[in-house]
Amino acid sequence: MFSKKVVNVGNVSIGGNNHVVIQTMTNTNSSNFEETINQIKQLNAAGAELVRISVRNDDDVKVLKELVKSSPIPLIADIHFNYKIAIESIKAGISKIRINPGNIGSDWKVAEVVKVAKEYDIPIRVGSNSGSLDKRYENDTIEMAMVNSALHQVRLLEKYEFDKIVISMKSSDVKQTYLANKIISKKIDYPLHLGITEAGVYEDSIISSSAGIGALLLNGIGDTVRISISGDPVQEIIAAKKLLTTLGLKNGIKVISCPTCARTEIDIEKLTNRVKNIVKDFGDIDKNITIAVMGCVVNGPGEAKHADIAIAGSKQTAAIFKKGKLIENVKKEDIEKRLSEVIKEYIEVI
Ligand code: SF4
Repeated sequence: MFSKKVVNVGNVSIGGNNHVVIQTMTNTNSSNFEETINQIKQLNAAGAELVRISVRNDDDVKVLKELVKSSPIPLIADIHFNYKIAIESIKAGISKIRINPGNIGSDWKVAEVVKVAKEYDIPIRVGSNSGSLDKRYENDTIEMAMVNSALHQVRLLEKYEFDKIVISMKSSDVKQTYLANKIISKKIDYPLHLGITEAGVYEDSIISSSAGIGALLLNGIGDTVRISISGDPVQEIIAAKKLLTTLGLKNGIKVISCPTCARTEIDIEKLTNRVKNIVKDFGDIDKNITIAVMGCVVNGPGEAKHADIAIAGSKQTAAIFKKGKLIENVKKEDIEKRLSEVIKEYIEVI
């Protein structure tokens, strides 16, 4: 979205004025075709636009060819150490590769990979992780070492006249990731892949990733995101979509609800979860819709004024609002049923 250069990964464009692209990684055994293609399809159904696969050996490469043919979205090969695997992955039809030139070894090996990437016209992602920084920058602060390690790799690719580059710099430390990306965004025009690495299990990752990735995106920095969560990668996609919708970078349905207090007249938590289930059935919607679930009619209507649909509880009934206007009062026992009808009608006609 915010870099000046655009890089194409198959039919998905990263950078420039394009939207922030959501990606993740498979965690199946890459040489198991069935398991891996099923997960790729699940991830795509959840909203993934790109999927990365670890390619570790010749067995993985063999399966990669079939995966590329069957995948509904472009695939990225994640390569460490072996430049020959990188070359074979490109020849297998992969749409982008992620390498760490430091791990690949001598510059001539990187040059060989670049030669084939040029021939097949695919981009290369390089970058740095705080855990594996280039020794030549060990006297720098961690964020500067991350920046200088990444720049070093970029310059190496540029030396071979290659410019289809995506850069990533990740740390499990939110502030380091934020600073490194902020600094490099002023130095280069290549698209940036954002992520907090080793971010932990669900709620830990959601907090770290939202803070780090969110702060960068709000500063206009970042073109593609991966939210790392230990566990099912479908959760990564759901979280990434929510983050982008929250930041106003992606259309979708936002369900907001009041925090509850002594004035609360209805079971807000239960009703909000019910509303979230109703809207889930509509899948990805290319419109911005906000639904507010409020606990009382004292502050509820005012707080929900800007919502498309709002409900505010009172002692015996609840008031339903559309675009800030009261449309009806429903009995408590009918709230869920009626609200669900109103939401469905609203979404279907817009
Ligand atoms: S909307 Fe009403 S119930 Fe909810 S937090 Fe505000 S005052 Fe309390």
